[in-house]
Amino acid sequence: MDTHMAKIQVHFKVFSVGRCASCNAYNEVMIYDYGRMTYAEMEKKMDTVKHEVKNLQCKKCGHWYPPKSMVYRDSENKIPELSQEIPYGSLRTQEESAEWMAAHEARYEVFESKASEFWMAYTDFALEDWRAAVNELTRVEIESAYKEMGIKSQLRTDQHARKDALNRNLSDADKRIFWRAANEYFVREELLYIGAVGWTPVEYAKTYGRRRTQFAMLHFPVPDVHEPERTRSVAQLFRRDRGDNAFLLRKLSTLNNEVEGAKKRATEYFHANETLKAEVAVGQRKLAEAYDRIRQLEDALQASALINTGDSNDKRKIREQKSFISELLTEVKRLQKLLPEASATVDFPDTGPSEPEDTENDPPQSYASLQGKTLVIIGGDRSEQASNVNAPCRIITVDGMTMGVELDAALKQADIIVVLKWHISHAAMWTARAHAIETDTPIIYSSPINIARILDLAAKKLLPS
Ligand SMILES: [Zn+2]
Repeated sequence: MDTHMAKIQVHFKVFSVGRCASCNAYNEVMIYDYGRMTYAEMEKKMDTVKHEVKNLQCKKCGHWYPPKSMVYRDSENKIPELSQEIPYGSLRTQEESAEWMAAHEARYEVFESKASEFWMAYTDFALEDWRAAVNELTRVEIESAYKEMGIKSQLRTDQHARKDALNRNLSDADKRIFWRAANEYFVREELLYIGAVGWTPVEYAKTYGRRRTQFAMLHFPVPDVHEPERTRSVAQLFRRDRGDNAFLLRKLSTLNNEVEGAKKRATEYFHANETLKAEVAVGQRKLAEAYDRIRQLEDALQASALINTGDSNDKRKIREQKSFISELLTEVKRLQKLLPEASATVDFPDTGPSEPEDTENDPPQSYASLQGKTLVIIGGDRSEQASNVNAPCRIITVDGMTMGVELDAALKQADIIVVLKWHISHAAMWTARAHAIETDTPIIYSSPINIARILDLAAKKLLPS
């Protein structure tokens, strides 16, 4: 770490941010305050603080939804804001997360236990092509190696320092000492201090050179649970490599891209699903409101039919209400499409105004009023019974789970509609009710499912009052 940077006073606060899945309004909430401290202290503390992902509540519409990113903001304004997208596609469980953190804390021990092997391999690598290795070192690195070896020299630039080091004709043993000392900062302060979970390979390749960054990352001792992080890091550096293992490494890189792509898509799906969930919730609420309006209209129409004052004001009101119902019906259909599951639920639906119960003592009805009419029965499966009965009218049966074209076509032909109370989905029932209001079609809500009884009820309903 840059020493000037390390001493800067910062005050970081962490915010959970994102657009509402329901209304798209932007919301953010502070979830953690690091307090005022130096940048170095803050970096240390970041290792130990874990932010739990909690849902945000929209200030505009009240909907709860998962945030998109965590934002780190310095209220001293010395460090630019840092935003980190929450990877829903690869979130770890709490246990995995704990193991992950423990491994990060144990990284020094893991490194020390294999440090001598690592340095041996790393210096072997440097000796293989000493010129290429030295040509990636900076003046500062070479100076620190000279200091360790007691060599005194005035170095002006990176170029000058490299030339100076190459011209010294060091023995292999000295080269090993030199290489290790020159790389102490890179290995300890970058790779080890940051840990595999935070490696930034592209940055390292720019600062320290691509060759040694590749080698060090491939061979650095990391805790087992962080191996996937090594793979991720290494893959970023081998996209266009041409070495001996180029084929395998390119393959690794491709596979890694696929994994990263899948994670990204999973995160996108996660948010899309949240938006859909919110839409469905809104749809359900609107649908309930629409049903309520239909119920009110039914009551109003029934009341006005009973009074039938001929008041032109009443007639105008009814006309207005009817034109409203057709808008409502369109909305209901749109919402029902949005809610495939809700529309398929069958329970004992509220079937609206009930017919006066007919008793066994009622005189048998003549079917005369049904002559030439079309009777539409919705719910259950009455088709077989309907085709066997000797009725003066045409009977169309629609099963109560069917929505869409078939139901609409049947309703259009109906002179009278019979809704079978216990064999129909909410959606089909409400569609029938709205249609009845809109078109002035008589409608009966019937519990009997015997076709003869249904015909009785229908004939009675169609009798002139
Ligand atoms: Zn909202």
